[in-house]
Amino acid sequence: MTFQNNLQFAQQLDAQDELKNYRQQFIFPQHNGKDVIYFTGNSLGLQPKSAKNYVDEVMNDWANLAVEGHFYADKPWWDYHERFAEPLSKIMGTKPSEVSVMNTLTINLHLLMVSFYRPTTTRYKIICEEKAFPSDQYMFQSQVNHHGFKPEEAIVEIKRREGEHNIRIEDILAKIEEVGDELALVLFGGVNYYTGQVFDMKTITEAGHKVGAYVGFDLAHAAGNIKLELHDWNVDFAAWCSYKYMNSGPGNASGIFVHEKHHHSNLPRFAGWWGHNKERRFKMEPSFDPVHGADGWQVSNLPILSLAPYLASVELFAEVGMDKLITKRNQITAYLEFILHEIDKEVNSTFEIITPSNQEERACQLSVFLHGEGRSLFEYLMSNGVITDWREPNVIRLAPVPLYTSYEDMYNFGQILKQGILLKG
Ligand SMILES: *Cc1c(COP(=O)(O)O)cnc(C)c1O
Repeated sequence: MTFQNNLQFAQQLDAQDELKNYRQQFIFPQHNGKDVIYFTGNSLGLQPKSAKNYVDEVMNDWANLAVEGHFYADKPWWDYHERFAEPLSKIMGTKPSEVSVMNTLTINLHLLMVSFYRPTTTRYKIICEEKAFPSDQYMFQSQVNHHGFKPEEAIVEIKRREGEHNIRIEDILAKIEEVGDELALVLFGGVNYYTGQVFDMKTITEAGHKVGAYVGFDLAHAAGNIKLELHDWNVDFAAWCSYKYMNSGPGNASGIFVHEKHHHSNLPRFAGWWGHNKERRFKMEPSFDPVHGADGWQVSNLPILSLAPYLASVELFAEVGMDKLITKRNQITAYLEFILHEIDKEVNSTFEIITPSNQEERACQLSVFLHGEGRSLFEYLMSNGVITDWREPNVIRLAPVPLYTSYEDMYNFGQILKQGILLKG
């Protein structure tokens, strides 16, 4: 499609947008009486209007039923998490028994590493991406230390080549082969949080397995953003947070995936009563008999108040389906890219999109490196109702989330950006 940088064209794309009505199902912060232009759904998704009803339902059941809510609420609490299995499995490309919801993301990665990072004196290395999200870096270091190894020896980061912004798949594969039988675990992001680069998880998984390592993914920026086929790709495990693209609310619950092939294994784990055989859970027996499924990695009974808004959002996603989301995602991201290039030409600016330009390697985030303008431009955008975020040293990240952003937003953003650059320049 040939894009145009004008309001009428943007509105025409909105009129043709199959998902246009979903925007009304979200609550937008206001700026001068208008919806903000929201580019940070990759950091904290907007609130679905249905979320409050789901939370109120739990509050009312608690008020009216108290302890009996565990079994007699409309959505009983003791197995509330099981309502996620079906819709979440569609979003993540898994079987229902392979997903569960619990805890928060970094905690879940730690718990999964208890099972899948079992270093020996000869096989103890972890391959990860250079500049992984800081929480993941701390996690790797502390896990390695916990097992008595040295982070500088055990952690192998795949680096970007000099002068390049993204990691090449051939470099990942070559490093996996090189580390070979010293490799215990590959734990990569599905989508890099900084550049928005999407990694080829199927190929990475195959390569890791070939040298005898486990392969897992941190899907914080992938869940609800890209097409996932975790089961078919044969990924061993994964975890994600739900407050980014999945709109569940600040700091909210995480999801995990454990491949079916591990459900009957003797992998060690840190256990708790919610991972225990469901039929016998309340018999309070002394020996642990894990649920055969991802639920077997649960520890505590679940924070129902935080699952409630997550469930509202998951049901919305399941209704829309990832395929439609991805169709719009690709078009609106391409439109944003077009607008950025147009403005760049008009004002003779020098910003650079560091996210890969091919559709296979990106999702809905474009990271823009501001060579000249810098932080004052970011502040100008924020004070004019464009919500983006700033990452050191000089990057703004723009995520046109397909469920609730419009093509008109993209056009309006371009105009505000242009004014900002002209004012600062
Ligand atoms: C957002 C994000 C996290 C956050 O972890 P929490 O435990 O939810 O605070 C971790 N890893 C990555 C890659 C992220 O993008």
